Amino acid sequence: GRTIGVLALQGDVAEHVRAVEALGETAVPVRRERELARIDGLILPGGESSTIEKLLRRLELFAPLRDALRGGLPAYGSCAGMILLAEEIQDAITGQTGLGGIPMTVRRNAFGRQVDSFEADLVAPALTGDPAPIRAVFIRAPWVERVGEGVEVLARLPDGGPAAGRIVAIRAGVLMATSFHPEVSGDLRVHREFARLVRGVG
Ligand code: GLN
Repeated sequence: GRTIGVLALQGDVAEHVRAVEALGETAVPVRRERELARIDGLILPGGESSTIEKLLRRLELFAPLRDALRGGLPAYGSCAGMILLAEEIQDAITGQTGLGGIPMTVRRNAFGRQVDSFEADLVAPALTGDPAPIRAVFIRAPWVERVGEGVEVLARLPDGGPAAGRIVAIRAGVLMATSFHPEVSGDLRVHREFARLVRGVG
């Protein structure tokens, strides 16, 4: 098995740790720079992206993590984690830059007050590895406004629901991101695809 870190500064860390362990991989919480050297991949959980960024800076983990991502560390960002991995953030708070890594623009809190939180069934075989729909839970989620070169769109919101056609899952090399939270539904397929990506490296 591989060792998958879960950035453990704020947000739904425990759910990701459980998902990784349920797949038979080793999960380790990451709070310190030295822990980056021990992991084969990193999950950036949902939570509040600007809070996580502030904590990253306070713990002097921001630059080391940015460098590790530039150096090819596989990573999967869910919701706030997606925002942290974006090269460009719309509706960021002042001073919020994100770590970058994925050439895309995300819009923070994109769905607005009317649809603060909602669920949708997505058919996204490129994301889940099979054609069975995945129940996607969106909580004050971002969406992807624009993808740059080398970014593969894995899922869009279906017709007939909120924000139809919006991009909500992408992959760019060894980096993955979803607007929603697969870790809350007990569906392990997204984490399995990430574990597969991690295993494919080195
Ligand atoms: N709105 C949050 C942010 O800006 C993301 C919400 C989430 O991760 N569930 O970071």
